[in-house]
Amino acid sequence: MPSVAGRIEDTAYSYSYQCGMDPVFPVQQVLHENPSFLVGSVRFKNSLSSMAWNNVIGQERVVHTLNRALSSGRVAHAYIFHGPEGVGKRAVAFGLAQALQCLQPADGAACGACNACHKAQKGIHPDIHVLMPTTTDPSHKDIAARLQAMAEDPYATVDFRRRPSMEGGKATSNKQVFYSIDEKKEPTLLRRAMRAMSFHPVEGKYRVVIVIDADMMRKEAANAFLKLLEEPGDNTVFVLTTDRVDHVLPTILSRCQQMRFETLAADEIAAALVQRDYADPKTAAVLARMADGSLSRAIEFAASDELPQVREQVLDFLRLSYKGRGDFITPMVDQISAQGREYTKFLLVVALGIIRDLMLISDADSPEMIVNVDQKEALTKFVHNLKDARIADMIEAIERTIPLIERNVNTRLALISLSIVLGNAMKGIRSEGIVTELV
Ligand SMILES: [Zn+2]
Repeated sequence: MPSVAGRIEDTAYSYSYQCGMDPVFPVQQVLHENPSFLVGSVRFKNSLSSMAWNNVIGQERVVHTLNRALSSGRVAHAYIFHGPEGVGKRAVAFGLAQALQCLQPADGAACGACNACHKAQKGIHPDIHVLMPTTTDPSHKDIAARLQAMAEDPYATVDFRRRPSMEGGKATSNKQVFYSIDEKKEPTLLRRAMRAMSFHPVEGKYRVVIVIDADMMRKEAANAFLKLLEEPGDNTVFVLTTDRVDHVLPTILSRCQQMRFETLAADEIAAALVQRDYADPKTAAVLARMADGSLSRAIEFAASDELPQVREQVLDFLRLSYKGRGDFITPMVDQISAQGREYTKFLLVVALGIIRDLMLISDADSPEMIVNVDQKEALTKFVHNLKDARIADMIEAIERTIPLIERNVNTRLALISLSIVLGNAMKGIRSEGIVTELV
């Protein structure tokens, strides 16, 4: 029976891995003493259900497979959850970790009531280690705030890449985010994971190591991590998540049981937004359709007060693209790209929603399906004025540009090129190859 002091230290250890900090750093205490730095984390009012899988939206196939593995005691040493961002890979990873630690699981599912379940839900279970890629110099406070937000709602956007600052959505950063193995820089992925694995499980039956965005390992880190996967200790379960499975080393993939996650249905997202108190049912329905299958994106939309302004900007971008005036479009492109990659991506996702609406309006059968209901008049006018517009080409051009923005392509060039393609498409002209030439 460990002493109380021992247990407190264990908790600190658990956080130390999660936060990548020195074990003596008592994050819990910092959270307690400085609650103010949590201001700006994702809004979260309703408490979620205590049953692990009940926090997971959709993904029945994946949950069913995992439940079967849990109830038959045939859990893999390593899983990789892959699929689009914001569809619940992290929620399922936490659910699996909780089910593995639960003291009285029923048919594999966590009970939600035992001590281990409570700790897992609060993010303080000493045998659940969460690793995430960081910038080179994250502050302790920043990481603690991210972990806290993640424990509160696994669908919240908390990673450094998509949310450079926890204090406000508007901050931009072009800092590199990755898993470091530079031994001079504490902490390193390798060191944290090895330390996590060198201890016996403190309280539970398993050590669970959740590796978020596993694609963010550079070659050396991936090779070092591979060694850990090749020699897993007994009772260690790795859960890797990624939305870019093609960026993960094949040798890592081959050692993991791969599970593919699908996008969520709009009504699942809408119901989750209401249940989590992010939006009223009417707004939730609009946001859900705009979010394109990602609950995280819908939550970002709900929390953002920028949406009306971004939509205005998208309509301006379309108008200027149609006019084809470089002297107008260039300043606008500069203004957009100056706000960073994430903002640009956000704008393009909103643009996609608007252009899909144009398609629905031009297809007279389904105008009631449109997402941007409050912009219906402007959109209808748009469609009537541009009878020859190749709307499918417009959608395709934006869908091709979004991954380019994610992949460090010059944002300005990508937007200018997109503007040309959109301008042509609105005039009924096909312009093949302009966007892809950038790659
Ligand atoms: Zn339990």
